[in-house]
Amino acid sequence: MIPQKIIDQFIIKPDSKVNLKQHPTNGLETAAGQEFDKNYIKDKADEILTKNRVELDAMQELLYASDSHSVLLIFQAMDAAGKDGTIRHVMSGVNPQGCQVFSFKRPSPEELDHNFLWRYMKSLPERGRIGIFNRSYYEDVLVVKVHPELINEPQFGKPDEKFWEKRYQDINNFEKHLARNGTLILKFFLHLSKNEQKKRFLERLTNPAKYWKFSDTDLPERERWKDYQHAYEDAISATSTKNAPWHVIPADHKHLARALVADIIVAAVSELKLEYPTVSAAQMEKLVAAKNLLEKTNDDSAA
Ligand code: AMP
Ligand code: MG
Repeated sequence: MIPQKIIDQFIIKPDSKVNLKQHPTNGLETAAGQEFDKNYIKDKADEILTKNRVELDAMQELLYASDSHSVLLIFQAMDAAGKDGTIRHVMSGVNPQGCQVFSFKRPSPEELDHNFLWRYMKSLPERGRIGIFNRSYYEDVLVVKVHPELINEPQFGKPDEKFWEKRYQDINNFEKHLARNGTLILKFFLHLSKNEQKKRFLERLTNPAKYWKFSDTDLPERERWKDYQHAYEDAISATSTKNAPWHVIPADHKHLARALVADIIVAAVSELKLEYPTVSAAQMEKLVAAKNLLEKTNDDSAA
């Protein structure tokens, strides 16, 4: 486990004003300002990830058996920050029946004809499951804030500060409702530097196995980097709450980011103190009777 003191640095406290420039993107610097050795960090991070994967699988089974909670993990980031890779690596040990991933793209006309939370509500995890949102309703205060022309709600006119405030409030109320009803919500912003994004885009443009990952909109959106960072700062500041905290994860070093995310999830699920359901005296009697009956059967003589 990564010490809580380190993890605490990445949690955004409720009501704080986030300035992303003050949050590291590489996370490799020591307190003294030197860099840790990258290979050392990679090995350590992979070790932590492997351990956490095993724990996460066991926890999901307990989550299902105890039937009291669900877990909602939200991933947001600039393009090429590693959302897909993080989800793949962190969840790869979990029983596929126990988790579900939804990747949200541009909304369909049907989705746009509903309130902005509608399509996400339909995809929430049921009790006992881990649900992952690869992008989420936060896009509706991020990409949509950078491109207000995407809003399909002419009745509200041109969006002003009040419009966004109301959306943040809606999100906070929605998450409060979920938390009250047994959903553990953890939100991760994978914080990438502009320079590392350039490197990853270039890799996508030079490696044939990665061409497909590059999209026509990637460069125009990169041009809007500052606007996105501001939209993230506003959204994270307004919606990091005790029940649904944001974590700003340094994402330039992929292995480190994955280990941090896995560790945060495992620690938070452990905090739920889940238990296997207890068996009543009457149920116990039935179990004993079934065991006795089964032991007496002889399969070889069965018809
Ligand atoms: P990707 O995750 O790279 O496949 O891209 C998905 C695209 O869908 C991104 O450009 C998102 O900004 C976009 N997208 C996701 N949710 C929304 C939304 N609510 N409104 C508009 N665009 C969205
Ligand atoms: Mg993309």
